[in-house]
Amino acid sequence: MINNTNNIKQLLNDKPVQIAGAGPAGLAAAITLAKQGVPVQVHEARNEVGYRFQGDLQGLENWTSKQDALQWMQQNGLSTDFEKFAGYQGTVFDNKGKAYTLSSKKPFFYMLERGPGTGSLDTALLNQAADLGVEVIFNSRLKDISGPGVLAIGPKAADAIAVGYHFETDMDNGFWAICDDELAPKGYAYLLVMNGRGTVKSCMFSGFKQEQLYVKRTLAAFEKLVGLKMINPQPHGGAGNFYLPATAVHGGHPVVGEQAGFQDTLWGFGMRHAMTSGILAAQSLLTGEDYDRLWKSAFAAQMQVSIVNRVLFGLLGNFGYRYFLRLISNSADPCALLLKQYNSSGLKRLLLPWARWRYASQRKDKSCDHIDCTCVWCRCGSA
Ligand SMILES: Cc1cc2nc3c(=O)[nH]c(=O)nc-3n(C[C@H](O)[C@H](O)[C@H](O)COP(=O)(O)OP(=O)(O)OC[C@H]3O[C@@H](n4cnc5c(N)ncnc54)[C@H](O)[C@@H]3O)c2cc1C
Repeated sequence: MINNTNNIKQLLNDKPVQIAGAGPAGLAAAITLAKQGVPVQVHEARNEVGYRFQGDLQGLENWTSKQDALQWMQQNGLSTDFEKFAGYQGTVFDNKGKAYTLSSKKPFFYMLERGPGTGSLDTALLNQAADLGVEVIFNSRLKDISGPGVLAIGPKAADAIAVGYHFETDMDNGFWAICDDELAPKGYAYLLVMNGRGTVKSCMFSGFKQEQLYVKRTLAAFEKLVGLKMINPQPHGGAGNFYLPATAVHGGHPVVGEQAGFQDTLWGFGMRHAMTSGILAAQSLLTGEDYDRLWKSAFAAQMQVSIVNRVLFGLLGNFGYRYFLRLISNSADPCALLLKQYNSSGLKRLLLPWARWRYASQRKDKSCDHIDCTCVWCRCGSA
């Protein structure tokens, strides 16, 4: 609960809090601040919200906490007024085309749309922020922040990429995935369909140079296995950055979401950490609490485990994926089984130094978190 009135008074008398980036992280911070009456300006480099996603379907994962992800959003004052599809049941294939049905009493995730569309998560958060009086300034690429601010400009390097297509379709709503290193090295290929729109991607953690080959194989596999039907396909892809920083405060400003490297390192789910860190950054501004302490106690342990999980998953190979799929599809409660994989254990703590050594983020320059950095060698120049 936010109860430090001195901090709030100071923020109310100061100039508006400046937030760089109108993604889920920046908007969650803006909404949390505006709810306390604090004036906020969000600067978005692009001409619209969610520019880099353009209708991408994504999953708000629901297995890293016992609490339901939508309930969590509501409890934290974030709008859930976006189109969604609860993924209770889906099919994952191994490299031989064997199907494993995953079904759960609790949705594995909530499928939602990203980008500037009317029913998207980004638009819901933008509308909520605007209703609370937040000023969102588009085409405004912040170069520096004076006064209180939050840095939320998204990924700074590619530790994984997801490449494929968006399309219209008459397929039924649902989700499908394939674990096969020939389609998505050390990752997974996926197909999501919601209300006449679809996304098909190869999410790879290696082999980026041959991305087109993997996309081609992914399309062929989904056509064969589930009768993928794409109408008006549009190529789309993006990068993900996973990184556990020593500190997520730079120039005195909290760094949130993927700019800080916050994301599930195992499979590349970043929306929950983005919104959580945005809320915590706002809380630290409102209360004077130490932001590093807040995010570390909220999810650093989970991120550490996800690094160990990533390294182990990357070593499984097609044979290991089959074992994993059997295990999860035979489980009476697969969400609980997944949640267990994210719990810290003696073994995972023991493996962490080795995993951190094996898993080296592409974001080499630990000190470089400037808002509009132009370093080439740490690849953080563009949004
Ligand atoms: C193809 C793909 C699929 C994904 N699927 C999933 C999924 O299924 N589930 C999941 O949880 N996560 C998924 N992710 C990850 C998820 O999208 C991100 O982790 C999440 O969007 C991060 O939110 P953010 O607010 O930190 O950054 P972003 O959403 O990237 O927002 C950052 C914003 O900052 C703006 N910006 C950049 N520079 C500046 C500047 N200097 N000044 C002002 N504004 C600036 C950008 O234009 C952008 O709008 C996926 C990512 C990709 C690429």
